[in-house]
Amino acid sequence: MANDLEFVGAKGMKVAFIGSECYPFIKTGGLGDVMYALPRALLRQGCEVRVILPCYRCIPEKYRERMTYVGSFGMNLTSDGRSFYVGIMELELDGVTYDFIDNRDFFDWGNPYTGLWEDIPKYCYFSKASLAALNFLEWIPDVIHCHDWQAALVPVYLRTLFDVTPVGSARSVLTIHNLRFQGICSIEHLKYWTGLPDFLFNYPVFKVNDHEANMFKGGLAYADRITTVSSTYAGEIQTDFYGEGLNSHLWYHRAKLIGIVNGIDIDIWNSRTDKLLPVPYGEENVLKAKRENKKALQTRLGLTVDENKLVIGLISRLTDQKGLDLIDAVFTQMVDENVQVVILGTGDPRYENAFRYYENTFKGQVCAYIKYDESLAHQIYAGSDALLVPSLFEPCGLTQLIAMRYGTVPIVRETGGLKDTVEPYNEYTGEGNGFTFDQYRADLLLDAVRRAERVYFEERSRWDAIVTRDMEKDVSWEHSADLYLKLYGELKG
Ligand code: ADP
Repeated sequence: MANDLEFVGAKGMKVAFIGSECYPFIKTGGLGDVMYALPRALLRQGCEVRVILPCYRCIPEKYRERMTYVGSFGMNLTSDGRSFYVGIMELELDGVTYDFIDNRDFFDWGNPYTGLWEDIPKYCYFSKASLAALNFLEWIPDVIHCHDWQAALVPVYLRTLFDVTPVGSARSVLTIHNLRFQGICSIEHLKYWTGLPDFLFNYPVFKVNDHEANMFKGGLAYADRITTVSSTYAGEIQTDFYGEGLNSHLWYHRAKLIGIVNGIDIDIWNSRTDKLLPVPYGEENVLKAKRENKKALQTRLGLTVDENKLVIGLISRLTDQKGLDLIDAVFTQMVDENVQVVILGTGDPRYENAFRYYENTFKGQVCAYIKYDESLAHQIYAGSDALLVPSLFEPCGLTQLIAMRYGTVPIVRETGGLKDTVEPYNEYTGEGNGFTFDQYRADLLLDAVRRAERVYFEERSRWDAIVTRDMEKDVSWEHSADLYLKLYGELKG
């Protein structure tokens, strides 16, 4: 592979990442993890990387005070030529340069995402300002790698208003992390806030019907390459069921679409060095250490302390996407005197309240921790025996990867990245990484949980072998970073 990369001239390649969130500054889901980990993996491969992000007010003070002011300029944005301030604040972390686009009108709200009406202008501004900032910094990348709908206008701006500026020499990659969110609004609203010419508001680019325009659609049309975060999801989104209305558009552009599965940052997610764990561990002492971590978790969460219970974790945004209606449908059958369930997540009040209800009903057996809590997430990954991910759709999914790295056996639905990363347990050969089910049905989820229970309680040596195998599985970024580099190299030509 190393020779391939040299051949395509990937070493020393300059890559700009543009996206709306990035750990440790701001993270609401897997996108934040990818924006953190992939640039680092590319850096290790010899690339020069810059990450461009909005300078949200909610970025923790400890990072804000380390930022330095690099410069500022005015930028025309809207169709009536209103000019907006663009400040650039910079910070370097472990060799990666982060440039934060600063404008208090757009980014002073409490959360990154506040509602589409405000978010559309915010990300029109952000996309255009990111390209203008690269010109201002005189840092011209070979490839601009944009992420999700919030940065989807970048490829469109790049080939139109910025085509004859220095940054216009760059090629673009647009990654779909989640197609459900697309940035759809009225044609007038988008025309006004982008300041883009009328000819783009046609069906092949932005237009979706007589009244509405779609930012993601335009970006997909204009990007030089489209990637998504697993091969299975790349196929799924070309179908009616998963395509979120863009399936025909994606099918049309399929020649430039590929799936590259995500990894996880194995330094952050390292059970040997994880300071958040009561008992850190490696493959050699996983079985004993997990029992200790389980007891610490049960104690912390007020569950009956008993290392013999099967503890099933769920760490998730509480939305329809995550298959929570299936869990809800069979919850009372899933929990019994041998099984405990630990839920960590926030989101739709319907699910938050359902899980609170179960906690109340099954005292000592169920804990619903309705918060976003990084440290508890680490302890659940380490202290649970199994992790549930029964998603309706899952572009890649990181929780099953983290779970495996921590020796926690995933129970997943075979969709998107879950299908690509969890090999189903085969009861005849004993091989596999986790327990899976295919159709979106609650009885099949329950069946998968029952199969897991059976192996856990009746064939413990086989269960233990799955645990060890999961810990040994390569879930790092290295292989995927190689594939991205190859893609960038092809674009650079
Ligand atoms: P998505 O991006 O769809 O939310 P992923 O599985 O790709 O799902 O990524 C979820 C990430 O967010 C994982 O790193 C997971 O540990 C983390 N996470 C989700 N909910 C919480 C929570 N309530 N507290 C802490 N971490 C969470």
